[in-house]
Amino acid sequence: MKNVTVVGAGLVGSLWSLYLAKRGYAVDVYERRPDPRKTGKAEGRSINLALSDRGWAALEKVGMAEAVRKEAIPMYRRVMHDVAGNLSFQPYGKENQAIYSVSRGGLNRLMVEAAEAHPHVNVHFGHACVDADVEGGTATFATEDGHVTSQGEAVFATDGAFSKVRAQFQRRDRFNYQQEYIDHGYKELHIPPGADGSHQIEREALHIWPRGKHMLIALPNPDGSFTCTLFFPMEGPMSFDALGTAEAAETFFAEHFGDALALMPDFQDQWRQNPVSSLVIIRCSPWNVGGKTVLFGDASHAIVPFYGQGMNSGFEDCRVFDELLDAHKDDFEAAFPVFSTQRKPHADAIAELAMRNFVEMRDLTAQPEFLLQKKIEAAFSAQYPGRWMPLYSQVTFSHIPYADALAAGKRQEAIMQTIMARPNIEETWNSQEVMDAILAQLH
Ligand SMILES: Cc1cc2nc3c(=O)[nH]c(=O)nc-3n(C[C@H](O)[C@H](O)[C@H](O)COP(=O)(O)OP(=O)(O)OC[C@H]3O[C@@H](n4cnc5c(N)ncnc54)[C@H](O)[C@@H]3O)c2cc1C
Repeated sequence: MKNVTVVGAGLVGSLWSLYLAKRGYAVDVYERRPDPRKTGKAEGRSINLALSDRGWAALEKVGMAEAVRKEAIPMYRRVMHDVAGNLSFQPYGKENQAIYSVSRGGLNRLMVEAAEAHPHVNVHFGHACVDADVEGGTATFATEDGHVTSQGEAVFATDGAFSKVRAQFQRRDRFNYQQEYIDHGYKELHIPPGADGSHQIEREALHIWPRGKHMLIALPNPDGSFTCTLFFPMEGPMSFDALGTAEAAETFFAEHFGDALALMPDFQDQWRQNPVSSLVIIRCSPWNVGGKTVLFGDASHAIVPFYGQGMNSGFEDCRVFDELLDAHKDDFEAAFPVFSTQRKPHADAIAELAMRNFVEMRDLTAQPEFLLQKKIEAAFSAQYPGRWMPLYSQVTFSHIPYADALAAGKRQEAIMQTIMARPNIEETWNSQEVMDAILAQLH
């Protein structure tokens, strides 16, 4: 049995170790954090993520989907809150199509436990990677008792956006690397359950307070609460920097997010306690050194969270890589470079899509014309299902490669611009004439 090393037991690392074990490898997973069961530490703040079809497919393949589904809440639509507290709605897809809110900590725990339960996986907590021999396929870890070096034949680096293994790639010739912080950062806030334990706003939905240059979102948790995230500029006249105190932040919230603030009785304490975090985009290539070391998940392509695809794309990496190992009969020398070359354009595409979706979420969802455009697309797609899949559905509810989805989305947008420019489109949007006008532009 071949022994391999996985660095980082986060979302992608724990899933990938299950894939490797299923393929018959003996897997050593090294994780910087201490074993949460031994430290007795709670998972901390309840950050949650949107899980969609690409993620589900990857979980399904190693038999994890059912366990995750038990802890996931479907979100069927976006609910937009305007400044006065009025609501508007936008379904995510067709009837019964949903993205799913899952707790990041809960999902990670479930996956690590599943990995550990596998007889061929050994998880070493409290092992922080400090060095890697990327040509040799080994990594070195600092532990409480000194340093240890992995013994496996290859290293799969899933140690996140600030990967220590990738740092060794950066010392090599012809490794491309780009790191970009966007202007916005984020702060998490919490809406507690109502007095009877129920959700205080619509449960099976993703809530958005779009305000042009910034926005607040909320995803449901099973305990009746919501995790909210404020995406806000880090610097400038309207920014985390400028807000300064919790009192000033509360005044700002009263003005911009009044209905959400009303549901956060301890707003000022939360504001003081919860940190402001940055958002980074990482692009690099190649992702492998021969057949010895390969970068996966955020370690190779960290993106902004606005399409809800960071984890989903990392999970898809696992499914795609598994197929490549099948195709190349587990020959790492052959499979690693193909993975890097084939997958990189799709990582770039989802990075671009995610930035574009930020504008859509924070700005366009507040505009009636945008919501009308989406309604027309949905109507056309329902009438001619084989001819049009909305971009959001391509990304979220299909396995169409991201770069293909991006290209198709650009073509669709050009068509919709002509449709939206038609006179009286507000009245005629659902007419056969409009449907025919779209049809005529499809070739
Ligand atoms: C605010 C926010 C919201 C998001 N929302 C979504 C969403 O809705 N949907 C979605 O799909 N994605 C979302 N994402 C993205 C998602 O969180 C990441 O894409 C995903 O966590 C990447 O998984 P990973 O395993 O590659 O990295 P990580 O989850 O970062 O895991 C890396 C692991 O490696 C360990 N590690 C790090 N350094 C070392 C070291 N030196 N030695 C050993 N171990 C190490 C870490 O402790 C960690 O366990 C969001 C991200 C943010 C910031």
